[in-house]
Amino acid sequence: DPRLAHIKESIRTIPGFPKAGILFRDVTTLLLDHKAFKDTTDIFVERYKDMKIDVVVGIEARGFIFGPPIALAIGAKFVPQRKPKKLPGPVVGEEYELEYGTDRIEMHVGAVQPGERCLIVDDLIATGGTLAAGIRLLERVGAEVVECACLIELSDLKGREKLKGKPLFILVDFE
Ligand code: 5GP
Repeated sequence: DPRLAHIKESIRTIPGFPKAGILFRDVTTLLLDHKAFKDTTDIFVERYKDMKIDVVVGIEARGFIFGPPIALAIGAKFVPQRKPKKLPGPVVGEEYELEYGTDRIEMHVGAVQPGERCLIVDDLIATGGTLAAGIRLLERVGAEVVECACLIELSDLKGREKLKGKPLFILVDFE
């Protein structure tokens, strides 16, 4: 796809954030570039518009940037999966492993119904722990995870192997 080179160039790399040794891929510069942001949304919409997706699930925080425009364009609802203690209503949660310790994501009870077809959206997959927890949470409430979509894959980290065989669609690979 000829649009992908420009999308990749619009992503800024910041060494040493949030700590030494990490090359942080910063998508806020993509958002400043109308063509890059529009093309990103268009590519996802072209892929998902006829896949009968009921729910676009966005993972905090940058899944909240890319998920809603896709949901609006394909006629799906949008559901956030959030860090602990952010959602005001009753929640279901799922823990996942970090390098040191654990983290947790939560979703409102009843936001996703059994049998609904879900697309999970985030900006980036690294180890895959976050998306894997998102999949488990949706499957626990009886939903069907059709696919995961990320703007960026850090493919050396082999995160896609953690996704229980769910397809992962990405636009840009940083090795
Ligand atoms: P994982 O659980 O796959 O190891 O980490 C993915 C999560 O961490 C995503 O929610 C993503 O937003 C965040 N993340 C990790 N590294 C980066 C990075 O370099 N850039 C951005 N934008 N997000 C990152």
